[in-house]
Amino acid sequence: MCGILGIWGRDQVAAELMLGLATLQHRGQDAAGAITFDGSFHVKIGRGLVSEVFADKHQERLRGPWGLGHVRYATMGSTDVEDAQPVHVSYPYGLAMVHNGNVTNFDEVRESLYAEHHRLVSTSNDAALILYTFAAELEKCDLRSLSILDLFGCVEATQRAIAGAYSAVCLIAGRGLLAFADPHGIRPLVLGRRETEAGPEYAFASETTCLDFLGFEAVEEVGPGCAIFIDGQGEIHRHQGVRGRSAFCVFEFIYFAREDSVLRGRVVAEERERMGRALASPVAAAGTPPDVIIDVPASGYFFAVGLASACDAPFRRGLAKNHHIGRSFIQPTDEERRRSVRLKLNPIRGVVDGLRVAVVDDSIVRGVTSRRLVSLLRAAGAREVVMVSAAPPVRYPCPYGIDMSTRDEIIAARQSPDAVRRLIGADGLVYQPLESLQALYRDVGCCDACFSGEYPTGLDAEALTRIEREKDRSGRAG
Ligand code: 5GP
Ligand code: MG
Repeated sequence: MCGILGIWGRDQVAAELMLGLATLQHRGQDAAGAITFDGSFHVKIGRGLVSEVFADKHQERLRGPWGLGHVRYATMGSTDVEDAQPVHVSYPYGLAMVHNGNVTNFDEVRESLYAEHHRLVSTSNDAALILYTFAAELEKCDLRSLSILDLFGCVEATQRAIAGAYSAVCLIAGRGLLAFADPHGIRPLVLGRRETEAGPEYAFASETTCLDFLGFEAVEEVGPGCAIFIDGQGEIHRHQGVRGRSAFCVFEFIYFAREDSVLRGRVVAEERERMGRALASPVAAAGTPPDVIIDVPASGYFFAVGLASACDAPFRRGLAKNHHIGRSFIQPTDEERRRSVRLKLNPIRGVVDGLRVAVVDDSIVRGVTSRRLVSLLRAAGAREVVMVSAAPPVRYPCPYGIDMSTRDEIIAARQSPDAVRRLIGADGLVYQPLESLQALYRDVGCCDACFSGEYPTGLDAEALTRIEREKDRSGRAG
């Protein structure tokens, strides 16, 4: 998963790019990069957090009023800077690109780019693949009289060639900023506008929290198959490109996006409370009501509050979190993940002592977090522990950019909920029923493939196995 930002401004943009990227830091912490344009491209990419990659000197060096930024969440083993973004080319136009998502037909597109256009993609970088595809299409146009319709035609050809999830922003040297999404609109991308004395300025960002911070008002989302171009004069041009059924990633609502963001017109925090309220009936069906409801901080909070508001048990904070250590989820081995969960979370004695405790997390993937927490809560005196997952059982890998690992690692991929309950050592285990989640998001049109196995881009078993194998090897991410 990654976070992207593109700014069409009228003055120097570097400082705002860096600040804006920091508000998207939750979407990726492994690498950060930015590119600006003032007649030439200026680039800075590095490993680590935004604050580690950019120093004051880069604000000076990254000159120009237009720019793109990226934060990267690589999965295991792919923290190479060569795979980081933004990417750029100088022919047939100066083009730079950032993207969020994951391409599912990488090898096929790479081969045809080489065979048909003599363009060699020598990294495993999805953004380079999308950019080269777009550039190869652009090359076919009459560049002296390149029209906006030509640009949109190139987007459509790119959408036909590239399968998977991608929300991208392309800076076209001297021409403007072009944003587009895959035909299903799997990943978020929002256009914001703000007024200045010199005229309006624009920004495309993965989440509205970034626009809020930079003072842009969210105007519209780049929906399924849509393309939006801001030209050199600041005029907005819209185009409906290749369109499939809407399949916005439901895991953005569950875990990935920040709680203050608005996605598809819905405030993420409110969505999490709604999902929490929907858990009341399966929790009631699971037997004796809990004495207390606690969250797994920070991602379980709104679900737990929602659940508590819909049943008789009180919500209390029963786990303290150390905010200063890295993520447990992407450690290389289970042993390291267990250790890191232990470092991160500790029960608050007295809150759980002698009680039947419902502990609410956003999701259970490998089950490492849940298993560790159940034993910690018992050691802190909990009489019984019911693990509650605001998401349905994760059963299938995500080929669209969320790091769900492979089926061998996903605890519910091949086991029943009761077997999972025994494995994590809980007295009860409650999952959000898939039908409840689907009912909540029917009108949005969401992808829930990680729960249902229904891939909106129609992946077959063979493609899935290939992607899992690739994931084991490299772990490309956007
Ligand atoms: P598990 O320990 O079961 O493998 O993972 C579940 C925990 O990881 C939950 O606490 C959840 O908040 C977190 N989680 C779920 N998906 C992701 C992800 O894609 N990335 C990261 N960093 N954490 C995740
Ligand atoms: Mg968590």
